[in-house]
Amino acid sequence: LSAPKLLRLLNLQPSENPRIKSHGKIAPEKDIRIGMEGLIGNTPLVKIKSLSEATGCEILAKAEFLNPGNSPKDRVALSIILEAEKNGLLRPSHSLHHRPTDNTDDHNAVSSHLRADNDSLEPITSGKVEDPDTIYEGTVGSTGISLAILARARGYRAHICMPDDQSPEKSNLLRALGAHVEQVRPASIVDKSQFVNRAYSRAEEHSADESRDSRGFFADQFENEANWCAHYDTTGPEIYSQSGGVVDAFVAGAGTGGTLSGCVKYLKPLLPDMKVFLADPPGSGLFNKVNYGVMFDEKEREGRRRRHQVDTVVEGIGINRITNNFRRGEEYVDKAIRVTDEEAVAMSRYLVEHDGLFLGSSSAVNCVAAVRAARELGEESGKVVVTILCDPGNRHLGKFWSDEYLKDYGIDVDDLDWSDLGFLD
Ligand code: PMP
Repeated sequence: LSAPKLLRLLNLQPSENPRIKSHGKIAPEKDIRIGMEGLIGNTPLVKIKSLSEATGCEILAKAEFLNPGNSPKDRVALSIILEAEKNGLLRPSHSLHHRPTDNTDDHNAVSSHLRADNDSLEPITSGKVEDPDTIYEGTVGSTGISLAILARARGYRAHICMPDDQSPEKSNLLRALGAHVEQVRPASIVDKSQFVNRAYSRAEEHSADESRDSRGFFADQFENEANWCAHYDTTGPEIYSQSGGVVDAFVAGAGTGGTLSGCVKYLKPLLPDMKVFLADPPGSGLFNKVNYGVMFDEKEREGRRRRHQVDTVVEGIGINRITNNFRRGEEYVDKAIRVTDEEAVAMSRYLVEHDGLFLGSSSAVNCVAAVRAARELGEESGKVVVTILCDPGNRHLGKFWSDEYLKDYGIDVDDLDWSDLGFLD
């Protein structure tokens, strides 16, 4: 039976059928994003139904995995690159560049760039530069992927140094994006300085090497304050607006600390009663620093650090030093919540089973901590808890989403039962 025949039978006009849209009545509103840059940000805030039902609070999550590079690091990479271009540290070789705005009351020049709408993007006129500048970064993946995308989009080379124990999906993707990937041995307890992160320092060394023909720029996501400014300028305001200006608790992990600091620095003055919780994986020094004022206890320093920067199956969050980007928001953090690997794995499987939500490890940690935060605010209180969904599960198929890998690590996924873990009934 064809649709028009069915309509005739039902004695309906096409426009009366709710399944058939009447065309020609919509006032067209031009909505075109300019390049990859234009696809970054404005991610939706989603209510996680299962967790909201279980806690009686509204658990809202910023779906940052919907950025074009599948993580909030797109915002950071754009902010870092635009700031460097403005300061003459990078010259885009083919792309669009921002016409400088004369916004003088900015806390940081990055703001005007990120607030700039498409009108302030204009084609570069100087043509293709023969020897593009190189962006160097030491990263476990997400920032490297975002930098690699924007390097292609704006005409740079990207050279990414990463620890060799990271999931292979990330290094393969980086290579596909045209980045040069240098795998280095991760920082370990036998390193001279416990704070040395080899990938990071290697990238810095390269950028300072003057024997190269082309210019080098060290993105420096841990210390470069264009990082937290990106979240202050975009993620924070988006959360405020999308939540209707109601956030009782904000929950996030910290890798560089940029997301946490940028969001809370924006939100706290508007919502002074909002509680801030740091979600922290095993082995990270931040938990003790926030809750007890000391970075390590001896047991953690000696026993728990193995080959990973922190000893956990969780990637991207947890640090053992206070970065510039974390320091900016540290004073607003009320409490750190320790999330075990088992809890993170169980949460990730729970969310797929109940919501069809397929997430990476740091997002799972954030969700466990969001449930705990909801419990602290009061079950069935209807309070609003906002957290961040950083990246999708696809990026973690070889590790966090591999039952075999987890078994080797000592976690038997078949044995996991979320009711035993106590975060959900
Ligand atoms: N999740 C993932 C997957 C990450 O890669 C990172 C950054 N390393 C984070 C969360 C934490 O974000 P931030 O660096 O802003 O603290």
